[in-house]
Amino acid sequence: MGSVHLSYLTSHHEWVFMYFHLILTDNCNLCCRYCRAKAFQDLDESEGERALTIDENLPVELDFDLNTLYAFLEKDPSPTLTFYGGEPLLRSDLIERIVREAPVKRFMMQTNGILLDRLPADIINRFTTILVSLDGNRELTDANRGSGVYDRVMANLRSIRAKGYPGELVARMTVTESSDIAGAVHYLADNPDFPFSSIHWQVDANFAGDYALRGFADWARDRYNPGIRQLVGDWVDHMEREGEVLKWYPFLDTMEDLLVGRESRLRCGSGYANYSIMTDGNIGPCPVMIGMSQYYVGHISRSHPLKLSEVPVGGDCTDCRIRSFCGGRCLYSNITRPWGTAERRIVCDTVENLRTALVGALPRVRELIDKGTVTAESFSHEKYNGCEIIP
Ligand code: SF4
Ligand code: SF4
Repeated sequence: MGSVHLSYLTSHHEWVFMYFHLILTDNCNLCCRYCRAKAFQDLDESEGERALTIDENLPVELDFDLNTLYAFLEKDPSPTLTFYGGEPLLRSDLIERIVREAPVKRFMMQTNGILLDRLPADIINRFTTILVSLDGNRELTDANRGSGVYDRVMANLRSIRAKGYPGELVARMTVTESSDIAGAVHYLADNPDFPFSSIHWQVDANFAGDYALRGFADWARDRYNPGIRQLVGDWVDHMEREGEVLKWYPFLDTMEDLLVGRESRLRCGSGYANYSIMTDGNIGPCPVMIGMSQYYVGHISRSHPLKLSEVPVGGDCTDCRIRSFCGGRCLYSNITRPWGTAERRIVCDTVENLRTALVGALPRVRELIDKGTVTAESFSHEKYNGCEIIP
């Protein structure tokens, strides 16, 4: 994994350096079951979505002078730039150019991995972190993402490792009712010849309009939540047995905070440490809030990267008992409210379940640190690298 790069708050509440997602294109070369395929279903919008103004004129492809971007980034002494889409590698031409030209030392990318072979090794090897979407084994990944996807992505990942890619490779899973979370995480973690450094997962809980079509509540109660409890136990067993803290982000970031007694803001950093540059140069708080112009905080041509307004999590999260653990989970969901009260309770119960499992494991983790089996430093990690943390 690359060196740890933390953001700090100054006394003026400005971040010393910032994370930016750069949206290169809205196009994608896959049509995953939980993502674009939903756009073709006739689903109801949530109340929050209906109240939104979406900029329908946002260009599909990046459409501004790259020198304006560089001038903006130059004002930050150490920005991190994460390429995002759509599928960012559809614009490998832009990635290559920006990596060569931009005044940025740290690059990251969130990709489906299909086109990773488009970039030359000297460009790929400049990245500190690449998040690759995979949902577990071949069967599950291909069922969600398309036939042949698993083999193609794994071949590309092995190839970039063989060509010397030194950075972090995060397996980023989307978890649905088809997933056995414990089985999927173990599948990716337990194969020693796999190229991954770390694992993150996100529950597909954006069920505006399709909740009635899904068995989410039963799955969350009977399979997902017990799977998380099992995985927390397995994670600590591994520490004890191997003296190693596995980089499973939903546990790593949260456990580090529990160990030092730190309260967390929104763990993905959106709206205060992590911002997203739209294809027209406008700056929004989150890479998913594309075209949500009410929430834009500036434009690369006139804003200072370290003086952007914050976009806080509010609403239902404001008075939540476990807010300091959860951080608010997701600003986008907090605004679009894709759930009724009952559905929100189920999602928030998954957070409560995660917290209970980790708090329960805390004494054992402390004991392993006290005995020197693992070090407290082993929990330190890159923040705001695209992992949402709270699944
Ligand atoms: S548990 Fe739910 S209500 Fe509480 S902070 Fe998290 S998302 Fe908000
Ligand atoms: S967790 Fe929510 S707010 Fe954060 S990056 Fe993802 S969609 Fe955006």
